[in-house]
Amino acid sequence: MVYDVIIIGLGASGVSAAIYAKRSGLNVCVINLSTPGGIISESSIVENYPGITSISGTDLAYQFFEHFNSLDVPLYNEEVIDIIDGDTKKVVTTNNSYEAKNVIICSGRKPKKLGLELENRYIGNGISYCAVCDGNLYKNKITCVIGGGNSALESVLYLSNICEYVYLLVRKDKTVADESLVKEAKSKDNIKIMYETEIKKLIINDSKIVGVKTNKEDLKVDGIFVNIGYEPSIGILKSLNIEMDNNYIIVDKNMETNIKGIFACGDIIKKDLYQLVTAVSDGAIAANYISKKIRNGNKN
Ligand SMILES: Cc1cc2nc3c(=O)[nH]c(=O)nc-3n(C[C@H](O)[C@H](O)[C@H](O)COP(=O)(O)OP(=O)(O)OC[C@H]3O[C@@H](n4cnc5c(N)ncnc54)[C@H](O)[C@@H]3O)c2cc1C
Repeated sequence: MVYDVIIIGLGASGVSAAIYAKRSGLNVCVINLSTPGGIISESSIVENYPGITSISGTDLAYQFFEHFNSLDVPLYNEEVIDIIDGDTKKVVTTNNSYEAKNVIICSGRKPKKLGLELENRYIGNGISYCAVCDGNLYKNKITCVIGGGNSALESVLYLSNICEYVYLLVRKDKTVADESLVKEAKSKDNIKIMYETEIKKLIINDSKIVGVKTNKEDLKVDGIFVNIGYEPSIGILKSLNIEMDNNYIIVDKNMETNIKGIFACGDIIKKDLYQLVTAVSDGAIAANYISKKIRNGNKN
């Protein structure tokens, strides 16, 4: 069978693409590895998704999955290992291969971790990888941000409006961020930039993070924001010569890549805001565009 569209990944963008594809009458299937609902299942709490005041990441991921299940769209729990371009596109998994006129890549990205002992245990409970997502949980508290790039500087500035005090711990003797961001951070009374500083150990009391041991001094902090980069899930792009910027896929306004019929949505694409609302928007735009394209006899 040749599907109208195959969606790779069942996180926020994949679920949204599936909803719009199915409701517009497309013959669609989804291939997803691991927990349906995607990376939001790793978030302790979500409070910025319109219509839902507050929900745990696990519950929201489950609600995404329940919504998906109501569509009656085939789901293959397999790992995609390659996509081959042609008149029809071939999506190759570890066990099978599937064909479609269009493919939407929604495979997301993973935050890089510090590699500290107990880091995994305290994710969502003292350790976060997203200031915009979790900053509000640390209102009037003391936090630290790890990293020296633009996203670390943006996090520290964002948190400085919420937290009592924010440390920026930079491993090297300088940041690699835009000078304007560094200047703004230096101008704030509640931000301290510490160079050549690395966390060596978490300080835990009563099962809560209360501080960090660094190579220089111990710091009292309630929360740690890790901004040392992400790894986009691009392992599936072995055969496709897709245009990328720093391992993020470049798309046009319809979410189409430089290869006709290959689309990408959500955290895997190059964009400014990596959030649920933008991921679901991307998925809807791609599926709606494919539906129009097929209705018009595949002409663009
Ligand atoms: C800790 C944390 C907290 C966050 N909190 C918030 C928040 O409060 N509010 C907010 O708006 N955003 C938050 N975000 C961001 C938000 O989760 C993402 O922007 C969004 O979930 C991205 O959705 P996605 O569909 O692009 O990717 P994902 O949700 O990452 O989904 C990708 C899917 O693709 C699958 N996949 C990957 N590779 C393959 C393969 N080879 N074969 C088959 N399947 C594959 C994965 O298993 C996964 O299911 C948070 C992110 C993190 C990490």
